[in-house]
Amino acid sequence: MVKQTIQIFARVKPTVRKQQQGIYSIDEDEKLTPSLEIILPRDLADGFVNNKRESYKFKFQRIFDQDAKQEAIFENIAKPVAESVLAGYNGTIFAYGQTSSGKTFTITGGAERYSDRGIIPRTLSYIFEQLQKDSSKIYTTHISYLEIYNECGYDLLDPRHEASTLEDLPKVTVLEDPDQNIHLKNLSLHQATTEEEALNLLFLGDTNRMIAETPMNQASTRSHCIFTIHLSSKEPGSATVRRAKLHLVDLAGSERVAKTGVGGQLLTEAKYINLSLHYLEQVIVALSEKHRSHIPYRNSMMTSVLRDSLGGNCMTTMIATLSLEKRNIDESISTCRFAQRVALIRNEAVLNEEIDPRLMILRLQKEIQELKDELALVTGEQRTEALTEAELLQLEKLITSFLEDQDPESKLEVGADMRKIHHCFHYLKKLLTDKKIHGPSRAPFSEVKDQVNQGPSTEEEYKKLREILQQRDNEINILVNMLKKEKKKAQDALHSSSMDRGEPRRSQSSPFPPGNPEGLRTLPLSAPTQAQDSSVIQYRSSLLHRKTGVREEMSLGRQEAFEIFKRDHADSVTIEDNKQILKQRFSEAKALGESINEARRKIGRLKEEITQRHVQQVALGISENTTVPSAPDPMEEKLRSQLEEEKTRYKTMFMRLKALKVEIEHLQLLMDKAKVKLQKEFDAWWAEEATSLQVNSPPVNLFNHVKPFPQTPESQHKRSQLLSNQSDVYTRKILPSPGPLLHSQEQSSTGTRLEDSIAKRPVSSVPLTGDSQTDSDILAFIKARQSILQRTDRPSSLPSFPST
Ligand code: ADP
Ligand code: MG
Repeated sequence: MVKQTIQIFARVKPTVRKQQQGIYSIDEDEKLTPSLEIILPRDLADGFVNNKRESYKFKFQRIFDQDAKQEAIFENIAKPVAESVLAGYNGTIFAYGQTSSGKTFTITGGAERYSDRGIIPRTLSYIFEQLQKDSSKIYTTHISYLEIYNECGYDLLDPRHEASTLEDLPKVTVLEDPDQNIHLKNLSLHQATTEEEALNLLFLGDTNRMIAETPMNQASTRSHCIFTIHLSSKEPGSATVRRAKLHLVDLAGSERVAKTGVGGQLLTEAKYINLSLHYLEQVIVALSEKHRSHIPYRNSMMTSVLRDSLGGNCMTTMIATLSLEKRNIDESISTCRFAQRVALIRNEAVLNEEIDPRLMILRLQKEIQELKDELALVTGEQRTEALTEAELLQLEKLITSFLEDQDPESKLEVGADMRKIHHCFHYLKKLLTDKKIHGPSRAPFSEVKDQVNQGPSTEEEYKKLREILQQRDNEINILVNMLKKEKKKAQDALHSSSMDRGEPRRSQSSPFPPGNPEGLRTLPLSAPTQAQDSSVIQYRSSLLHRKTGVREEMSLGRQEAFEIFKRDHADSVTIEDNKQILKQRFSEAKALGESINEARRKIGRLKEEITQRHVQQVALGISENTTVPSAPDPMEEKLRSQLEEEKTRYKTMFMRLKALKVEIEHLQLLMDKAKVKLQKEFDAWWAEEATSLQVNSPPVNLFNHVKPFPQTPESQHKRSQLLSNQSDVYTRKILPSPGPLLHSQEQSSTGTRLEDSIAKRPVSSVPLTGDSQTDSDILAFIKARQSILQRTDRPSSLPSFPST
């Protein structure tokens, strides 16, 4: 058992403005526990946070300042937890802090760069790397991903991939058994056999979360997300299984609302916006008080789910994320205070070992059979019925493998059945007589006998004979090896040709080598099993479906609008950047793949040469009737050292390629996610446009309601060029009444067409219909609006569209 208080760490998010720096200081001098001092600016100290103190000091295990990299966070915080999970203890890491303080960035990672990946992907990578290294145990890994919003649990890994709102996801409920163990009903567990599969699950969950989020529920700030890695391990043949869970928790924003009108008491009186965080605090307070017998875990779903992590069987770590800007000072102090309380909680982690009932049953059944047999033997109970054909066959097989077994200690175990024992003796006798009658002419033996008979069996002769025998053995071994190699080559050729046919995604264009030379471990990443591959493809394709499925049904007008929307979206820069990086990485990987293949060929050639050299030596030995020279052959030594060198080179390149592959996968998933996000935002924007188009049927009013595309600053100029090509026509169509901005002569005759066409449609058919007429109407309208806005040069009337 490991007794340990919850470890607390602080991480300060980089501030946008540098002048905020005087607000806090970090004291690392006190070697054991560093402290974070938050200094109240004077205007705040005698203002609304008027409790006379000017600075607050909080102790943490470690404090990570603004420049701390994700790598350092993983190494110092997550890796020790992952290690104890690998050893069989439960672990939890949770991030706590106000919205936008960097919880998601810390737990999951940033959406832009590979180096920004957070604790989850790094931990997955680490765990799978360790599992691969340890061949002494059989490991199984499962993943689950739970979101808790408003006291309801949702399964983010819903295999049906149909969710478009949170309510579409399967609802997860908490069940408690008589031993107070918590079970989550409806939360799916997905096996992940590789890092890649686990990463796919993470992105699937994140994408589901993003799609299900609406501006109304603000799921990302108001919900808790718990990504859990379930690890079980077992030694081969043993019935004891170790199970450990690692919860990686991204909590809801911890911001509080102040009680209005209570000036000086803000820091103590503020209430959580999120009720379940209030219950979390209650649990923490109860746990940190001595002699409290009742801990109110059951008050909220989150505290029920994390019951073991809080004061139970778990090694728990908290990361307090802080956005230390002046306006966040009270929230930051609250977060630190919360952490200080959490640090008082003592957990007791135990090894979670249990006996697997199925394995135990098998073992007991065998034991019972053995005891029965023994009993039958002791009591002399006779069985008279004849043995069945199957039993006889089974016995003969046993005898054959017994005879073939080189181990002199091996036993022929047939149980205590006298019929079987008798049959064995009969069979052996038969074998012996058969051998005597049709005994093979054993040349070597007769030769030996002759030699032995011819003269006195001196020690020397005996030695010589042994040497000859040894020599023959060597020759045979070499020949057998050569044969095997030929066979393997043929198989490889067959295999690679079938791979080419069977794996379109990875063949040809894939820079990853199809296999390893002998002696190097095969990486599951480069040679996934069929099951793995299909599940990966399934997840990927589900994302792609999200991404493209809607577009397939899009009308031309809407597609055009989407293209413009995409180009002008702030995220498109990131997508483009990632595309470029991805291209680079791909060509890097391709080059590396080619070098690896070259190295493989070289290794093959060297091995061939060594074998040939060996054969030559043996042949020489035979012709000169001497044994294989015991002195080392310098030529062979040289070849061997070259081989070793080449193998090392191969290994290094292979590891690099493996890392590159993970990066490429990650980037692809980031891009997929960004694209889904873009599509989602476009749909929302389009629907909004369509609605406002309808609500504000007099087009002149529309003028003030239509939002421009979400945009990057530089995109405005480009778009104005694009839109001006067509906008005149539409403008004339749309605006019927003589407006101050228009000078078209045709306006009155054609202007009401759009209005008419939309007014005739039922309300529900306007947004998101895929109805090409409506869509082109909307597009036309939007373009016109853009054009007018630009022409009138009234930037102040542009409502700003949230860029992300
Ligand atoms: P939260 O999940 O606490 O609401 P986020 O993790 O979403 O906050 O962070 C808010 C924004 O700040 C995101 O755009 C994120 O990329 C950025 N961010 C947070 N922490 C860091 C950091 N340590 N370094 C760089 N950017 C960060
Ligand atoms: Mg977040």
